[in-house]
Amino acid sequence: MSTTPHRSRPPRVVAARSPEPASAPPSGEQRRPGGERHSTVERFALGLFIVVPFLALLAAVPLAWGWGVSWLDLALLTVCYFVTCHGITVGFHRHFTHGAFKAGRRTRIALAVAGSMALEGPLVRWVADHRRHHRHSDAPGDPHSPWRYGESVPALLKGLWWAHTGWMFDAERTCARTYAPDLLDDPVLSRISRRFGLWATVSLTTPALVGGLATWSWQGALTAFFWGSLVRVALLHHVTWSINSLCHAVGKRPFRSRDRSANVWWLAVLSCGESWHNLHHADPTCARHGVDRLQLDSSARLIRLLELAGWVWDVRWPRGSRLDARRVPPTGAGTGPRNRREGEPVETA
Ligand SMILES: [Zn+2]
Ligand SMILES: [Zn+2]
Repeated sequence: MSTTPHRSRPPRVVAARSPEPASAPPSGEQRRPGGERHSTVERFALGLFIVVPFLALLAAVPLAWGWGVSWLDLALLTVCYFVTCHGITVGFHRHFTHGAFKAGRRTRIALAVAGSMALEGPLVRWVADHRRHHRHSDAPGDPHSPWRYGESVPALLKGLWWAHTGWMFDAERTCARTYAPDLLDDPVLSRISRRFGLWATVSLTTPALVGGLATWSWQGALTAFFWGSLVRVALLHHVTWSINSLCHAVGKRPFRSRDRSANVWWLAVLSCGESWHNLHHADPTCARHGVDRLQLDSSARLIRLLELAGWVWDVRWPRGSRLDARRVPPTGAGTGPRNRREGEPVETA
């Protein structure tokens, strides 16, 4: 577990990048006494949230062959997985972080609660970390770049671990006042964010309650908790974290971005469309990430349904000319591993 501040050990791969513009907001690694560092208790709780579901996931396959799974358990796993995953992708990510569409107050509350139930941390912290990721993607200041330690194979393997899980144990915390002032100043949303423990409890206990009541047995409650809570949380954690790690290391890069973001097709269904990550970094406010033919993006479908229902509006759907301007030409410049257009202003949202 590394607690070394990011800045003290600049990675070789990003050392040559241009310095941060004078107008840029201060980096999130600033130490501020009394609230900008994770406490030991917080990090212990974080470890529990990560390790216990992961152990459950490891135990899940042998159990699936035996007595320990029912159709109800699988249904709970699937429903809870996709409800909370879309809470993250449509809510935390596309709406609250990037403003890809506008939404009414009830819809915003529902999205904030659904995302909180994914157990990926409180809303304000998630959004602050992710805006900082876009502000500094694959450069010093990025909270979870897999290129942090360099480009050699051992450095990349270490970086992938860091981007996948290790970064969350860093004692330094992104400054929420710098990166998510809009959410902090919204009394309802900041209250939902502060009550993360409540949403985590609801998320973990609901499957057990449903399983227990439906089968009227402790065994039904136990297996529903195992599959609908532990396995579901572990699976979603690792899919989400793969966007931070794998989708900045491997995959196709049809669009120009300032970093190493890439499209990873085989994660599209489980990530609800988020693994079209190269397009996302090329056009962060776009409501659809899978913009090309056969690129599944269930989050975009859900946003469209919400738009048809009148619950969201001003959706930033992809436009042909905007996409074409961002495409890598079939031949020539821009096809390297880093498709960064030097000298461009940095777009954070
Ligand atoms: Zn990214
Ligand atoms: Zn993003």
